[in-house]
Amino acid sequence: MNAQDLQAPVDYLKGVGPARADLLRTELNIHKFQDLLSLFPNRYIDRTRFHKIAELQNANAEVQIIGKITTVKMVPQKRGKRMVAVFEDETGQMELVWFRGHKWIRENIKTNTPYVAFGKLKWFGNRASMPHPELDLLEEYQSKKAQRMQPVYPSTEKLQKKGLTNRSMNNIMFNLLKQCTAGFTETLPESVLQKHKLVSKTKAIFNVHFPATINDLEKAKFRLKFEEFFYIQLQLIRKNLLAKKKIKGFPFPEVGDYFLDFYKNYLPFELTHAQKRVLKEIRRDLNSGAQMNRLLQGDVGSGKTIVGFLSMLIALGNGFQACMMAPTEILAIQHYEGISELAEKMGIHVKLLTGSTKTKARRILHEELESGELQILIGTHALIEDKVKFKNLGLAIIDEQHRFGVAQRAKLWKKNTLPPHVMVMTATPIPRTLAMSVYGDLDISVIDELPPGRKPIQTVHRYDSNRLKVFKFLKDEITKGRQVYVVYPLIEESANFDYKDLMDGYDSIVRYFPKPDYQVSIVHGKMKPEDKAFEMQRFVEGKTQIMVATTVIEVGVNVPNASIMLIESAERFGLSQLHQLRGRVGRGAEQSYCVLLTGHKISKDGKTRLETMTQTNDGFKIAEVDLKLRGPGDLMGTQQSGVLQLKIADLVQDGSILALARKEAHLLLKEDPSLESPENSMVNFTYQSSMKNKQFWNYIS
Ligand code: ADP
Ligand code: MG
Repeated sequence: MNAQDLQAPVDYLKGVGPARADLLRTELNIHKFQDLLSLFPNRYIDRTRFHKIAELQNANAEVQIIGKITTVKMVPQKRGKRMVAVFEDETGQMELVWFRGHKWIRENIKTNTPYVAFGKLKWFGNRASMPHPELDLLEEYQSKKAQRMQPVYPSTEKLQKKGLTNRSMNNIMFNLLKQCTAGFTETLPESVLQKHKLVSKTKAIFNVHFPATINDLEKAKFRLKFEEFFYIQLQLIRKNLLAKKKIKGFPFPEVGDYFLDFYKNYLPFELTHAQKRVLKEIRRDLNSGAQMNRLLQGDVGSGKTIVGFLSMLIALGNGFQACMMAPTEILAIQHYEGISELAEKMGIHVKLLTGSTKTKARRILHEELESGELQILIGTHALIEDKVKFKNLGLAIIDEQHRFGVAQRAKLWKKNTLPPHVMVMTATPIPRTLAMSVYGDLDISVIDELPPGRKPIQTVHRYDSNRLKVFKFLKDEITKGRQVYVVYPLIEESANFDYKDLMDGYDSIVRYFPKPDYQVSIVHGKMKPEDKAFEMQRFVEGKTQIMVATTVIEVGVNVPNASIMLIESAERFGLSQLHQLRGRVGRGAEQSYCVLLTGHKISKDGKTRLETMTQTNDGFKIAEVDLKLRGPGDLMGTQQSGVLQLKIADLVQDGSILALARKEAHLLLKEDPSLESPENSMVNFTYQSSMKNKQFWNYIS
């Protein structure tokens, strides 16, 4: 069947009248033959296996058995009667049961004749019974080119009610495929098919619906998943290439004196290999003539800040300004302090701008920024207010804010002739599979190595009932001079309860850790920014030993002497949040600990989260588990992203197929960037049609 015929409305298909066609349209969004072909089964019932009655077990879901019906009787029950047939094979006996349709059964059933019975089992003690089995005479079952792997299609309650059962869907699909015996046009390049031993389009479509063996099915699925990823990647990569051509950026031909001076004389430690590699990637971007759009991923504590600072020095060395934006005031202050300390040595002019900056200081700052006297500006969202104008912003670094949109980024360069280079730093590890699909427009660098000498954080799970033991442990550590975080969950919907928990918790901690031997700070979202900053500062300076907080401390805060993270009601936190919180400790030379306190009632997912935390410190492993638990839709605000509404492939399970498809898409575009060559005409056609499905761009930019 050619592409044209596949555009025919489903009404024209045998077995689909106008009523059913309407149902298919409204319930499953199926309009054309083509849509029906891409309604892939959810699962398959394996009818390649037969069971013996004596071997049946409770755990068997659906079974098929060869046997004979010996007797049929009617059994009265509360309402009406049920029909019960004794069914036996050479190993034993069981019952087949019907609650309706008795007449038809009685007239058609043959006793003492071999049948294949298929269905779900019900158990009454150790007696198996099969209600409303699918019955085929063994002879017919064998002669019929029976579907050994029976597809189960997505359905809805309404479809079931209106009689469009899975059996009817099977028939409809069968009729459709009967009309397609001529095959389908191949949509992948011949060379790719050969290289990866992919089955043809025709074979794949037939076998995904009616596979004869599990092996056929696997091959069909592999090919279709590959194809789905391949076309998505073609689009993403082309978009990225086009963007690179279109969006010019300032070329920074020099690394510059600032960079060289700092690197030679002031670098406080040797960079890790990963930091060096990433710097090279950034360096290449900055001199390419195109605007850099780079996502810098690195686990908490991997040392992203110094990489950011060195990149700023390149901008400065080429005569440009740089800025860094942080999500909270506390973090902005920390960055400001860290960076001014480094910059000071080279006489670089750095300032801080937040919501708390006073009017007069602000006015001076604006002037210095416009004259170019101010070289580095660090701050919060205040940086993107309209009044803030740079003379020539060359590099904007955005810390811990992957959600920061393009529109907001654009505000940074209103006055520039060209957009600044942009680097987004995040400690939220995004699994590669997801990153490859979602961030087609950002290049990605990964710092996958921690600075040397860090002791891995030890993580334990303890129940509330052991709280006093845990507190005793905190006391011992504090005596050794350490500091402690105690974090409470804060969920928007139950904010009032949560604040009460937090305050109760604070009270009990103050009781257990009394003044003047112990000082306890508290920070939460209802406090004024300056109060928060004050309390935070006391903790940073070591004036208080315990910091009780909600998750406001989640990102970025750096207090190397704090070596214990105690998380209350840990079962209520998501995995990535737990990992972020844990990342607040383990920054100094001392052994650090993370204690997850919970009640006894924990959900299955909750248990998995706690186990994952106690078993690994690897942010990427944690992100993979998180992705499996929550599904991709939840991560990174990608809910609306059309790209994740895949028809057959699965971002979590099929990461390796995605990587393969992406590689081939790259190779193809390298050879034929605009897909013009004749042998790629079918690829181009398929690509253009998939482009019409614009939905999938929603998430980017
Ligand atoms: P993050 O990636 O979480 O932002 P930071 O940039 O805050 O991490 O770095 C964490 C700590 O590690 C800082 O105290 C920093 O000075 C230190 N650090 C960074 N890189 C190195 C390195 N190569 N060797 C030793 N310490 C380093
Ligand atoms: Mg950081």
